[in-house]
Amino acid sequence: MSKPKIWLSSPHMGGTEQKYVTEAFETNWVAPLGPNVNGFEADLQRYTGISHAAALSSGTAAIHLSLILLDVKPGDMVICQSFTFSASANPIAYQGAIPVFIDSEPDTWNMSPEQLERAILACINGEVMNKGMKMPPALPKAIIPVHLYGVPAKMDEIMQIAGKYNIPVIEDAAEALGSSIGGRMCGSFGTFGILSFNGNKIITTSGGGALISNNSEAIAKARFLATQARDNAPHYQHSHIGYNYRMSNIVAGIGRGQMEVLEDRIAARRANFARYEKYFAEVAERGYRVKLQPCQADAFSNRWLTAITINPAENKGITRETLRLALETENIESRPLWKPMHLQPIFEDTPFFGDGTSEKLFEEGLCLPSGSNLSNEDFKRITDIIDSVFK
Ligand SMILES: *Cc1c(COP(=O)(O)O)cnc(C)c1O
Repeated sequence: MSKPKIWLSSPHMGGTEQKYVTEAFETNWVAPLGPNVNGFEADLQRYTGISHAAALSSGTAAIHLSLILLDVKPGDMVICQSFTFSASANPIAYQGAIPVFIDSEPDTWNMSPEQLERAILACINGEVMNKGMKMPPALPKAIIPVHLYGVPAKMDEIMQIAGKYNIPVIEDAAEALGSSIGGRMCGSFGTFGILSFNGNKIITTSGGGALISNNSEAIAKARFLATQARDNAPHYQHSHIGYNYRMSNIVAGIGRGQMEVLEDRIAARRANFARYEKYFAEVAERGYRVKLQPCQADAFSNRWLTAITINPAENKGITRETLRLALETENIESRPLWKPMHLQPIFEDTPFFGDGTSEKLFEEGLCLPSGSNLSNEDFKRITDIIDSVFK
C-alpha cells in the first residue's frame, strides 16, 4: 500500500469560508456579483494598500483585461518575463500582440533590468526579429514582470526603466500576495497589479483572480468589460466587446474566509522555507551544495514555494531529476521550475533577450512540497528521501 500523497501545494481552508458561502445561499446571492464580491474586494484593497480591486474569474483574465485597458492591439509588442507560468504571456497572444521575452537575473530569478532596457532599445530601434521578420520600430505597449514563487522582482530598477521610456507596467503578483519590497506590497508598483486565487496559490477561492490599481476609472472599466460590456440602457445594448470574467459571489465567499488566515498561511510557508534552509545547511556538511532561491535584503517573500537548484557538478553528479524521481517513488510531489516561455513550442521564434540565466535555472531547479498544511511527519518523510539521495 502506498503512503498518502504529499502535494506540492494544496488548498488549506481556515474554517470561516463556509460561513460566507452559506450566507450567499441564504440570501440567494448566487450570481457574479453580491456582498461577498464587494467584501472580498474591500479586503484586498485594505490588504494591498491599493484603492481599487476588481474580483475576477482568474488571474489570467486580470492580465487580459489590463492589456485591453492599455489598448494593446494586434502587432503591438509587449515585454514579458520569460521565466514564468504561461498565463503571464498567453493574454498577449489573445490580443494578437507580439511577446518580447526577457531573461531572469540571478539575484531574484525574476526579470533582468539590464536585459529589459536592451529589449526596449531594440524595439525602439526596429531591431527586433519575430518569426524571421523584422518588427517595425515601436515603443512596447506594456512590461509584465513577475514575482516568481513569491520572491519580489527588482521593482525599483524595473519601474525606473519603465518610467524613463514611459511604458506602463502590469505587475504579475499571482504568486506573491503578501510579499513586499521596503514595506510596499507586491502588486502595488505597476499601473496594474494582478493576483490569482487558483487552487495551488497561497490562498485560494478554488479558482479566481483580481485586478488591482489606484486608477478608479480603469477598474470601473475593467468591471464593465468583465460583465459583457453592457451599456446603460433598459435593453441589452453593447458598444464594446465584452467578456464574462467576473468572480461569482459564492467563490468570493471562500476568498473572504481565506483573507482571515492569510497571515498564518504566509507564516507557515516561510517556516517551511526556513526549515528547508536549515536542513540543506546540514546536507552541505556532507559535501553537497544545494541552493535556495535568493531574496533581496530589502524584500519580504511570502515563500509560496520553496525552490532549490542542484548543479550536478557541485553535487557528485546528482541532478534535480535524481531527486524528483526519488520523491515521486515515495508519492511525494515536486516539480521542475517553470520552463521559460522562449523555449516553449507555442512561442517558438518570438523575440528573446537574455544570457542563459533562466535556461540554467530550468535545468537545475526544483520546487519542493511547500503547502501551509505540511505536517512534521510529512517533512520527515520528505527529508528522509532527500537524505537517501544526498548520502
Ligand atoms: C497562477 C499564475 C497566473 C494565473 O492565474 P490563474 O488564476 O490561474 O489564471 C499568472 N501568473 C503566474 C505567475 C501564476 O503563477
